[in-house]
Amino acid sequence: MADVDPGKLRFGPEIMARLEQLGSISHDRGALSRHFLTPEHKAAGELIKSWMEEAGMQARFDAIGNVVGRYEGLRPGLPTVLTGSHFDTVRDAGKYDGMLGVVTPISCVKALHEVGGHLPFAIEVIGFADEEGVRFNSTLLGSRAVAGTFDPMLLDKTDAEGITMAEALHRFGLDPARVREAAHNPENVLGYVEIHIEQGPVLLNEGLPVGVVTSIAGANRFVVRVEGQAGHAGTVPMDHRQDAATAAAEMLLFIEKRCQGIESLVGTVGVLKVPNGATNVIPGVA
Ligand SMILES: [Zn+2]
Repeated sequence: MADVDPGKLRFGPEIMARLEQLGSISHDRGALSRHFLTPEHKAAGELIKSWMEEAGMQARFDAIGNVVGRYEGLRPGLPTVLTGSHFDTVRDAGKYDGMLGVVTPISCVKALHEVGGHLPFAIEVIGFADEEGVRFNSTLLGSRAVAGTFDPMLLDKTDAEGITMAEALHRFGLDPARVREAAHNPENVLGYVEIHIEQGPVLLNEGLPVGVVTSIAGANRFVVRVEGQAGHAGTVPMDHRQDAATAAAEMLLFIEKRCQGIESLVGTVGVLKVPNGATNVIPGVA
């Protein structure tokens, strides 16, 4: 491998400028919203693809709409280290979430390319088309396709306008019957590394520039319906009540207590609903 001049690795300004550029490709004005298989997805993907090509990579959209750039190793066809992140966003997103992990490795490869450097393995940078799952209410579609775990049943899912994923792929210029072609053969993959902004306060509080994680939160999500008995708030004595909202509140407190006991275990109740709630009615359901 050729020596890389450390001066050439100072790509900070380029990375920051590109994050601004990507952050301006949005469906909404004044807020960053970019969802799967939309014109904004296409525009952002084309931009990423052009940066990959400039960095000496072979770049393409894959069968699910991810952007994949490949930089060969010492000889073509060597096993590959995958890196990348997502370039879709939630609604009103931050411009670093996901995109940092797409833009940064492109600049790293560019530094290598500028000195004609090649590693004993190939590098593929992947911009994942969908991680957040906003449009079809199903997350990680891009990486599932790459991992070969994309369930074709998902193609029937519809967005808020009733457009199926299969139809959206068609409109994007992709063939839904060929999604499986996005899968990588695990035998050719050495590993996967991702750069991502921290979305918690730990590094900031500790004054640390970077952290190396060994695992990622694996989420289980539940919708729980608590049934009690509705009643008049003024006339039902306390010891006759079955208040669904207070029962739910006890569950929340239990979850908090349970998770405080174990390091790295977290638990959140993000949605609380008391259907048809009123100030003078004991909640029958929560
Ligand atoms: Zn993210």
